[in-house]
Amino acid sequence: MADCTSIRKFSDAADYRARFVVQAEIDKYLPRGRHFVDDARINSIIAGIDGKSADPVRVREIIAKSESTCETLQPEDTAVLMQVTDPALFEEMRAAADRIKRKVYDNRIVMFAPLYMSNLCVNGCRYCGFREGNSAQKRRVLTMDELKEEIDVVAGRIGHKRLIAVYGEHPTTSTEYIAETIETCYARQVPAPRSGCKVGIRRVNVNAAPLPIADLKVLRSVGIGTFQVFQETYNRKLYEQMHPAWSVKGNYDWRTTCFHRCMEAGVDDVGLGVLYGLCDWRYELLATVMHARDLERWFNIGPHTLSFPRLEPASGTRVPEESPWLIDDDTFARILVIARLSVPYTGMIVTARESPESRNRVLNHGMTQLDCSSNIAIKGYSDFASEAHQEKERQQFMLGDTRSIDEMVRYLATRGIITSFCTAGYRCGRTGGCIMDALKTGREGKFCKINAVLTFREWLDDFASDETRKIGEALIEKELAGIKEWLPKFYTTVMKQYEATCRGERDLFF
Ligand code: SAM
Ligand code: SF4
Repeated sequence: MADCTSIRKFSDAADYRARFVVQAEIDKYLPRGRHFVDDARINSIIAGIDGKSADPVRVREIIAKSESTCETLQPEDTAVLMQVTDPALFEEMRAAADRIKRKVYDNRIVMFAPLYMSNLCVNGCRYCGFREGNSAQKRRVLTMDELKEEIDVVAGRIGHKRLIAVYGEHPTTSTEYIAETIETCYARQVPAPRSGCKVGIRRVNVNAAPLPIADLKVLRSVGIGTFQVFQETYNRKLYEQMHPAWSVKGNYDWRTTCFHRCMEAGVDDVGLGVLYGLCDWRYELLATVMHARDLERWFNIGPHTLSFPRLEPASGTRVPEESPWLIDDDTFARILVIARLSVPYTGMIVTARESPESRNRVLNHGMTQLDCSSNIAIKGYSDFASEAHQEKERQQFMLGDTRSIDEMVRYLATRGIITSFCTAGYRCGRTGGCIMDALKTGREGKFCKINAVLTFREWLDDFASDETRKIGEALIEKELAGIKEWLPKFYTTVMKQYEATCRGERDLFF
């Protein structure tokens, strides 16, 4: 059981709103009140590129810099990439983004599942179906027994190993509750439908509200994976319009300094994200680069992942339909490519909010992670007969891609992409600073390739349809041949683990 004695307790929502933020933990990371998201600099950069086309020589220099150093670009360089409108030059950028992704992460896509724990919330975010006062929303907090039922489907029927656990912000889902849900996820083991092997969740990432350092330390002690907090918009003015001042989330500085606190608490895999559609995408991307650079400056560790959620229709709000900054699919694809070139080493997540067409299109735009067979209703996995079933009043927003994991794994395999269920990195201590260098030099990608093969084999034997299994096995043959060529001396060791996996041993990794 997690030791939660260091965590402050709150009697009700009003008490929580009044006392939750720890001002000293903001001030420490904004020395002399200067914010690392430099609004004046961003506005001046945007004014400088508005309506001007890119110099191809300069663009190619920046592509080369990103590819050769794998270091985060300066915002001014990112801005040059934003100027590109010529399709041929953009194609050069896309191809480079794909090459960088392959150098850092190889030809694999990491698979995960969202699992919503609660939709009670003390905040009033204008775009979100969970906001306080939205009477259309049916409220619920999963009990531990209900969570076990959800895991039985997510891990036991679908075959996920990696979760992103999602929480509203409310005293009933305090850090103590989050810690208990993480422990419950890890403890649950169920037999797989095809092989009968015991399977379960091996990595729990968390998407929740920003926390104080003491609380983050508790989550670290129960084995949190990545801590993910989306900034929604980095533009302070728009942020204040979307998040009422009476709400905890209304505090822009508390949210923007969240990852600095994570690093201090030892939670060094952090996931940044912007809710695209609330503000000019160029502002958001430039601010994201500034955020990544500030984390690197303080801790020598940048974001483990970037997420690219787009505003989706939600219950009781028109903001997702009426915002003046909504982006189309072409812009979304551009954003991904520019992000990959700007923060070359980071993981990039594209969720099932997107349509199948949009996700298929951006698979070669630098992305590294996706979710499938997702259900984001609270207790949706175990209550509904199919994962694809959606109910607006029970979920935060509507999903666009409801393809099953079997269909997606098969589709990826036909494009030469291996689906990875690997969770070895953080369990071997390859997180934060330890993994940054390995990523930048391409070493981690090669390790992950082996672990991807082992976990892909597990999933095929435990869950796949016959058709998917056949296509998947052909891909594994190719991958093993590649490993033999690349690591001839290590190959026998790899094969020993591979053959043990085929015999039904589980969770073998390097
Ligand atoms: N309550 C926590 C918070 O706001 O940070 C974490 C969970 S919240 C359920 C997760 C994310 O969902 C938010 O950060 C926001 O970016 C995203 N979200 C909210 N409303 C959305 C909508 N209408 N469409 C797409 N994403 C949305
Ligand atoms: Fe609450 Fe998060 Fe939704 Fe805002 S985005 S209303 S904080 S659940």
